[in-house]
Amino acid sequence: MFDKILIANRGEIALRILRAAKELGIATVAVHSTADADAMHVRLADESVCIGPPSARESYLNIPSIIAACEITGADAVHPGYGFLSENARFADVLAHHNIGFIGPKADHIRVMGDKIEAKRTAKRLGIPCVPGSEGGIEDADEAKRVAAEIGYPVLVKAASGGGGRGMKVARTEADLEQAIGMARSEAKAAFGDDAVYLEKYLEKPRHIEVQVLGDGHGGAVHLAERDCSLQRRHQKVWEEGGSPALNDAMRAEIGSICAKAMQELGYLGAGTIEFLYEEGRFYFIEMNTRIQVEHPVTEMITGIDLVIEQIRVAAGSALSVAQGDIRVEGHAIECRINAEHPATFRPSPGLITYYHPPGGLGVRVDSAAFQGYRIPPNYDSLIGKLIVHGRTRNECLMRLRRALDEFVVDGVDTTLPLFRTLVRNADVQNGLYDIHWLEGFLAQGGFDG
Ligand code: ADP
Repeated sequence: MFDKILIANRGEIALRILRAAKELGIATVAVHSTADADAMHVRLADESVCIGPPSARESYLNIPSIIAACEITGADAVHPGYGFLSENARFADVLAHHNIGFIGPKADHIRVMGDKIEAKRTAKRLGIPCVPGSEGGIEDADEAKRVAAEIGYPVLVKAASGGGGRGMKVARTEADLEQAIGMARSEAKAAFGDDAVYLEKYLEKPRHIEVQVLGDGHGGAVHLAERDCSLQRRHQKVWEEGGSPALNDAMRAEIGSICAKAMQELGYLGAGTIEFLYEEGRFYFIEMNTRIQVEHPVTEMITGIDLVIEQIRVAAGSALSVAQGDIRVEGHAIECRINAEHPATFRPSPGLITYYHPPGGLGVRVDSAAFQGYRIPPNYDSLIGKLIVHGRTRNECLMRLRRALDEFVVDGVDTTLPLFRTLVRNADVQNGLYDIHWLEGFLAQGGFDG
């Protein structure tokens, strides 16, 4: 096992990793920018090192500074959290070169899954169902027309190096196709410096359903059921729950075992998420995230398994502590991402938290690095905490969530809490009747006015 873990992240996920390391009796090192000198993860770690100025590029993304911090403190492993360097294969390689453990997947698997065309090819080879589309990139308009005619309109033109929903254009007819390709190419070229595009069948009203997996790197792998993250705004997840209101136990077991088998074949190491669009009873792979995700507590609440502890164990060469037969879904969990943003305009609202009172009680978990007197810096994302609620049934979970949201007080900055108080009382949300466009439609129709 590792002796000392350096946490190359900040905010609630740094605290989350710190807690896992403490439970395992492993010493912790926090790194921080000058903007985060008084942050909670710095206060709670055994040691801390300042790695640069506020700009993430010069601090949390600064590989030489992080390696130096490992060498100064004698950390023998790094946990990257999510975002920042978590899916940077070169970072994993550099750590290996310095004989420092990386608490994450093998660099090759990060690389494959980071390339959309390669990821899809790999998924298909491993028996994971994919969206019908082109085999690899599209060379010219004629090839695109041929593929589109085969899979049927509408089709989606996607950038091979796309991210954050950029470089995607829908074509509803053959007449639209050429223009959609041109627009996707120039958007992708400008954003990612790569104009390669590919084609997929466009799904009109899918849900976003993702399967959590864990692998030991030697062909042992399990799945831990799914999360439904269909409530999104601008491709950002807002509300996540597990299990999905759209699946029953048999469907859950079927897609789960397809994913676990694929990870066994791949020899996948660590935690990962296989993301699907789901429509009319069918799953379509969109991507795999090779890291711990923001919404991982949903899975922890319904399975009782600490995913970060499992990540650390397998990265250190230990076996997974659970076999598939030990994993059971108990009850239902929902996570709300509380951002320091205006709840109607979503304008970021950094600044001083003058009063902070998180909710408590049975089945209520708050993962946050906020506290009264904390000044949220303007330099990073606006997530200030996650409220995760568990109940024996989805109904009990919703009742408890409503109560917990009403109890949560954050004064001094705007937060998205009022939006969640409206959502938890909405009939479609209560009935689980939503797809990936539902929230934007609800907001556009003035369903919530702040
Ligand atoms: P990114 O890396 O940019 O997030 P994804 O491939 O994950 O790209 O797609 C982003 C989002 O676009 C998905 O979450 C989904 O909402 C939508 N999307 C992607 N592929 C399709 C598709 N074939 N049909 C309909 N919507 C899609």
